Amino acid sequence: MNTVGPAPGSQSSLRRANRERVVETLSTNGPLTQVEIAGATGLSPATISNLVRDLDGDGAVSLTNSVRNGRRAVLVSLLGGAPLLAGVAFGDRDIRIAVGTGPNDLIARHRMPLPQDHNADEGLDRAARLLHEVLADNGHTLADLEQVALGLPAPVDSVSGAVGSELIMPGWRGVHAAAELQAALATPVILDNTANFAAEGELLAGALGGVETGAYLKLSHGVGAGLVIGGTVFRGSAGTAGEIGHLTIDEAGPVCRCGNRGCLNTYVGSPALISAIAPSQGPIPLREIVSRAQQGDPGCRRVITDAGRHLGVALAGLVNLLNPEVIAVGGQLARTGDLLLDAMREGVERGAIPSAAASVTLVPGALGDDAEVRGALLRAAGARSARVG
Ligand SMILES: [Zn+2]
Repeated sequence: MNTVGPAPGSQSSLRRANRERVVETLSTNGPLTQVEIAGATGLSPATISNLVRDLDGDGAVSLTNSVRNGRRAVLVSLLGGAPLLAGVAFGDRDIRIAVGTGPNDLIARHRMPLPQDHNADEGLDRAARLLHEVLADNGHTLADLEQVALGLPAPVDSVSGAVGSELIMPGWRGVHAAAELQAALATPVILDNTANFAAEGELLAGALGGVETGAYLKLSHGVGAGLVIGGTVFRGSAGTAGEIGHLTIDEAGPVCRCGNRGCLNTYVGSPALISAIAPSQGPIPLREIVSRAQQGDPGCRRVITDAGRHLGVALAGLVNLLNPEVIAVGGQLARTGDLLLDAMREGVERGAIPSAAASVTLVPGALGDDAEVRGALLRAAGARSARVG
């Protein structure tokens, strides 16, 4: 988060500048505890306590009892109608939507399945309708919405705004998704990769909190990754960094939909897992493989650990290049916990240089399925602040 240093001068101008920082932080993030405000602004807890008392006395904020990370906490929220934001995160087979005033203040969330290989018009139309319904259910209309952040499970070219590879998301060829959704909603829309949003969510309030160098890995029907460098999400020169699913792990491997051979996705994407289990258990869907593995089915457990080993090979490369502190793992496969993570850890230990392997920790994501929409709401808040000042 960017914070502006206090203006030089008298005690009162310093106090005013600090107060503005607190208001701006609450405006960007939605309701926060005093400890979180101190963390976000870099001001001391004692200073925050005084400023919040003043703001409360002036009727600028409200204090409400809440529960944070299982503990009772007092949330400080800006009064006067915080702007309404939405996060829309497309997965390979679903859409998740959240509406709120910031990443820590979700008013409503919803998930809808999407047919495989749907086209962009269909997907965007569903997202717009779902958003409309979620708003209506909570007494709002599209007119109340000030900013939307849209995530796609594909490389997004930050220069052209188009989906960066027509082969990775068929049916979205050359689509300018942000512009189309913006036209449908009459609200500003920013676009990024869904995994980048998840990395931002985990950075803000989850398993990547305080991490300088790390990654978020989403393992569902395909593989997505958000890279964290210097404490922020790294997007590369054109916004497409983190496409770990198309890392080659075997040059003679099966042909991937991207046209190359032996991409990680061809070993750990849901088609590979489904066809691995099909001869013994029939064509069962991914969620059933995960569920049977959790219940101890040996065949499904083997499919998950094999996927973990392949992931470990790719991650060893990432660990050698990036020397990350933490890799957070989310998505459907992550529900199998250490069954998957231990196999990934073995792969990293085998393939990465020992010092880099020893310094990285693989953990499950802390926000579960909310990581993406919370990161999207954070980005929406940032984009709105940048626009309206
Ligand atoms: Zn590929």
